[in-house]
Amino acid sequence: MDWNALLGGAGRGQVSPKKRTKSASVSAVRKVQIEVGSVTAIVMFKKVKNLRMTIRPPHGDVLISAPTRMTLAPIRAFVESRIDWIKQHQSEIRSRKYPKPIEYESGDAIFVWGHAYSLVVLPQKGKPRVELTDSELLLSIRPSSTALQKEKAIQAWIKELLVEAIGSLLQEWEPKMNVKAQSFSIRQMKTRWGSCNTRAHTIRFNTGLVKKPIECLEYVVVHELVHLLERSHNARFKGFMDRFLPEWRLVQKRLNQPLLDGTMGPAHGGNVD
Ligand SMILES: [Zn+2]
Repeated sequence: MDWNALLGGAGRGQVSPKKRTKSASVSAVRKVQIEVGSVTAIVMFKKVKNLRMTIRPPHGDVLISAPTRMTLAPIRAFVESRIDWIKQHQSEIRSRKYPKPIEYESGDAIFVWGHAYSLVVLPQKGKPRVELTDSELLLSIRPSSTALQKEKAIQAWIKELLVEAIGSLLQEWEPKMNVKAQSFSIRQMKTRWGSCNTRAHTIRFNTGLVKKPIECLEYVVVHELVHLLERSHNARFKGFMDRFLPEWRLVQKRLNQPLLDGTMGPAHGGNVD
């Protein structure tokens, strides 16, 4: 059994390492709750061939899919034989930090270039406006605005900020490296800080880069531009990085640290593709 595969995301175990069964149809699933030692599990009887166990974040609920005709005895035995493993994974899952959704109210922290700014919401008519002071991010927005509307206004401002910063970094680095990006875009990406389409010469940047110190953005810009010289992360690629940005390994480490708001960046700490 590949226990390592169970470590990521929701833990999942199979009794038999044979073929995986297709997911069962949702219709008429019989559910039974069982207690084994101090573990409570929900058993769902489905059209599956093998017993399958999932430990679900964030509370570590134990869910078991069992073949429709199976009795409870082998299911209890299955849980019993894995009790230590279940407990270990429950405590790992429960100790994970999940991003706390912010409400976009005055006092909330907004992160810009590695610094925390305290949000100040100023009820005002007209188009939303954002202004950054030494320690505060002032958002002027209509009094009745929802959290989502406030988030959108701030996100739009962040995008402008990134467009401007990336534009000037490209202007600085393209001539130094003798390459040219056709265009770039900014979007929220789950798995990567940046990526480069080496055929179209287009580059994508992750919106979350705004939370990191600006040298992290510079590192991603240079990394993606190096891809226009070398597609893969081989020795030649690293040679270019060493030449253009000798400190790149240090900056990469900073990029891979958790964000200041306690959340991790893309892909558990920062893939740059
Ligand atoms: Zn890369």
